[in-house]
Amino acid sequence: MLFDESQLMTVKGMQTPFYYYDMNLLEATLKAASEASQKRDFHVHYAVKANFNDRVLQKIQSHGFGADCVSGNEILKSLEQGFPANKITFAGVGKSDKEIQIALEHDIFTFNVESVQELEVINELAALQGKVGNVALRINPNIDAKTHKYITTGLDENKFGIPAKDLSRAIKVLETAENLNFVGLHFHIGSQITDLNVFKNLCLKVNQWKNWFEEKGLSIKVLNVGGGLGVDYNFPDENPIVDFERYFEIFDQFLERRENQEVHFELGRALVAQSGNLVSKTLYTKSGAQKNFLILDVGMTELLRPALYQAYHKIEKLEKNPVESERIKYDIVGPICESSDAFGRNVELPEVKRGDLLVIRSAGAYGEVMASTYNLREEIRYVYSDEI
Ligand SMILES: *Cc1c(COP(=O)(O)O)cnc(C)c1O
Repeated sequence: MLFDESQLMTVKGMQTPFYYYDMNLLEATLKAASEASQKRDFHVHYAVKANFNDRVLQKIQSHGFGADCVSGNEILKSLEQGFPANKITFAGVGKSDKEIQIALEHDIFTFNVESVQELEVINELAALQGKVGNVALRINPNIDAKTHKYITTGLDENKFGIPAKDLSRAIKVLETAENLNFVGLHFHIGSQITDLNVFKNLCLKVNQWKNWFEEKGLSIKVLNVGGGLGVDYNFPDENPIVDFERYFEIFDQFLERRENQEVHFELGRALVAQSGNLVSKTLYTKSGAQKNFLILDVGMTELLRPALYQAYHKIEKLEKNPVESERIKYDIVGPICESSDAFGRNVELPEVKRGDLLVIRSAGAYGEVMASTYNLREEIRYVYSDEI
């Protein structure tokens, strides 16, 4: 059970919907990740876009993780929450001049550069500031992450990374650019990757590219293999913490690194997903011609993942029924005027009545951060486990 008796009393009096962050689970997850990475001398940057709730960021920062940002504002936010600039990476296919200037001003760890044109722009803007920008080249390794097509990023057809055919040109630019400091290579092939073989394949590709660059006389200090490690959305109680040991061990085993080469990771989802839950109230129950609907007070405006990429979240009733009843199949939907505003079809639950609380599990990553005010919805609320 997510809440004990006294917490449940508090929760029943709270205005719904709201995100509930389990700070103990977050702590335990971060501890496991930092232990497994540190003993291999790996560097982990937390992908801020997964969840930038203040206290979540503070906790992550307090464990010594760096930050992986995809916008100028994420960089500023990370600095504000105490992440040191020299642990901040900056990725994204569309970095604006203003965002690049912010990153240069703060001397971040690296730009993960996604095109030859971007290299030229960073060089120009750095020259104007009298700075030298640290750059890693994001390479698109053409690996199938075997995940949903909307969260695959490392295939030739995706917009991310420098296409292989442009890499020689990128090296030419690096050779003459006075305000760029080449530090290494960056890869990120997708998200919610649960087949760990995919990461082994990534290692083999990284080794190949590393050799290719070294043969061309470039010295590589940083190998950044990105993030993408998946979590168990089906069984959040059985697997609340990802097996970080197994994950990092793959890279330890298959990545060829020289003594002076650093290995960097950018984990988002795996660090925060299971620590977030979305609590909601049943507004109406309705039996259609073929379906039983539960209409919640939470919608795609608070949790977009199901509507955006057909993501599955486990949904549970918070309280037991006084008398055990048979389980009923429900389509669980939100109040937003879109047919894609649904959280689950044919979900089996004990009978649910108007007013019953439901909880949508594993919502800590790409949840609160994607909330919108479409339909002029109220701003999303959240509460931390140590507050109730
Ligand atoms: C989103 C993103 C990540 C984190 O992905 P997860 O699947 O949440 O681990 C890492 N690196 C880059 C460049 C990203 O865009």
